[in-house]
Amino acid sequence: MSETWRLYQLQKADGRLVELEKALKALRADEDHRRLLQEALASQEASETEIRQLKKQLREMEHEDSTLRARVKSLEDKLYGGRISNPKELSGYQEELAGVQTRIGTLEEAMLTRMEELESREEQLTGLQDRSAQALRDHDERQAALERKISELEREASNLRARRREQAAEVEPGPLKRYENLRVHKNGVAVVRITRRSCEGCGMNLTDHKIQEAGRGGLTFCSTCSRILYLEG
Ligand SMILES: [Zn+2]
Repeated sequence: MSETWRLYQLQKADGRLVELEKALKALRADEDHRRLLQEALASQEASETEIRQLKKQLREMEHEDSTLRARVKSLEDKLYGGRISNPKELSGYQEELAGVQTRIGTLEEAMLTRMEELESREEQLTGLQDRSAQALRDHDERQAALERKISELEREASNLRARRREQAAEVEPGPLKRYENLRVHKNGVAVVRITRRSCEGCGMNLTDHKIQEAGRGGLTFCSTCSRILYLEG
């Protein structure tokens, strides 16, 4: 096995490790399903709060309504009980009765509106609850799939790192250092194949001399992009 072959194996491992890291980063950042679930739960909660408020308002209105009705009853008793004969007092009660009845009318209309609103909110809540349940199922499914994929890629990366360490140990320190330096300066790609008589890194045509030199397996560099050339076969 030539030195460039070893370096090319290292390059393949490093390239794959970069891909794996990118993929893992994307998988870990995949939060869409979490966001959808949170949105669904937040809408449901907002709707539940509205319903609680409506119910509270209705209870208060019902309470006022029964207080007013009791007042009507007491005013009617006074007006028609025959115990009061003072006309001024009677007309005072009549006035109050009319006012209370007007208030009851307004109140009951408002209660009816609230009840209709409550009914439609409750219907809406059922839909929101279904949506939350679906979002939760989707979330769990997606999360489980993500976790499977993440651990699969992590396993591959860890195996690859172990193999890469062994491969790197087989390369002489000098060439290894040049390889590492090139990777830093050449966008992660230090070793490239010669394909169709060209450098796969920059696409430039190579001279026969260059190709023969690379074929001997020693370190040969592309005169254009300075990468290490690897001739397969
Ligand atoms: Zn090149």
